[in-house]
Amino acid sequence: MSKIYEKAPAKINLVLDVLRKREDGFHEVEMIMTMVDLADRLEMEELHRDQIVLSSQAGFIPLDEKNLAFQAARLIKERYGVRRGVYIHLDKQIPVAAGLAGGSSDAAATLKGLNRLWNLELPTEELEELGAELGSDVPFCIRGGTALARGRGEKLETVSPPPQCWVILAKPPINVSTADVYGKFRVNEVKEHPSIPRMLDALSRQSFQDMCASLGNVLENVTLNRYPEVRQIKDCMVKSGADGVLMSGSGPTVFGLVSKEVKVARVYNALRGFCKEVYVVRMLT
Ligand code: ATP
Repeated sequence: MSKIYEKAPAKINLVLDVLRKREDGFHEVEMIMTMVDLADRLEMEELHRDQIVLSSQAGFIPLDEKNLAFQAARLIKERYGVRRGVYIHLDKQIPVAAGLAGGSSDAAATLKGLNRLWNLELPTEELEELGAELGSDVPFCIRGGTALARGRGEKLETVSPPPQCWVILAKPPINVSTADVYGKFRVNEVKEHPSIPRMLDALSRQSFQDMCASLGNVLENVTLNRYPEVRQIKDCMVKSGADGVLMSGSGPTVFGLVSKEVKVARVYNALRGFCKEVYVVRMLT
């Protein structure tokens, strides 16, 4: 009986800009996303019966059709008429509802994994199209690396990876709904849009300093104004010496970029005083 493994890494947004609200209710975005070395791990194994069975060590996520990994398995199975079952175990390491695309990355890993397990031989572009049916961030999670995303987030262009550095992630004990944040966001109230060309230029020159100076997320103020604990984390990272600090996605996770290892402990210890969920990882370049 064959068994395979897939890693599902978390993403951070180096830039998140919203251009306008579309007629279909979605927002037209421009984002630069990159993967970090914090990942869920998925194990997929053939089942004798024609069924999708999901389990996880994390007690706080749905294990039925509400789970994005389950939805991904059902979609690829139905679309390609696969009459085989699969048992998926999800070792959850990425914090949930954190702005790190954990669910989307699990869906992406499931599509990639089942493509292998069931020998479907689908090209990446086809998996990305399938992924777009599950969520705007899923195509990026399939492609990985660093990308400029447009449209709802599904139109991708691979770009230069960031220079290597430490990424300190801190998540306050609150869950933020992406839909809520977008609901409260008003594009005409944005004072300054981040510059995509500036970030692309910093990445192509591998300039850590310019990358830090070009970070920007127009959703940040919505979440910062609503949750003082997110602002407290941001202030703490800045004061303790992180070189660049930004909220990821719709939050509430805030990440700090640090180039020198000696600074990492200082930022980490300052955060640990009041925030339980702090992770120190590397960029996945
Ligand atoms: P994004 O950055 O794409 O908005 P997120 O990191 O904010 O995503 P997720 O961790 O993907 O959010 O979880 C959002 C919601 O999706 C949670 O409320 C959770 O119950 C549900 N969910 C469904 N499938 C999963 C999964 N495999 N892992 C985590 N959450 C999942």
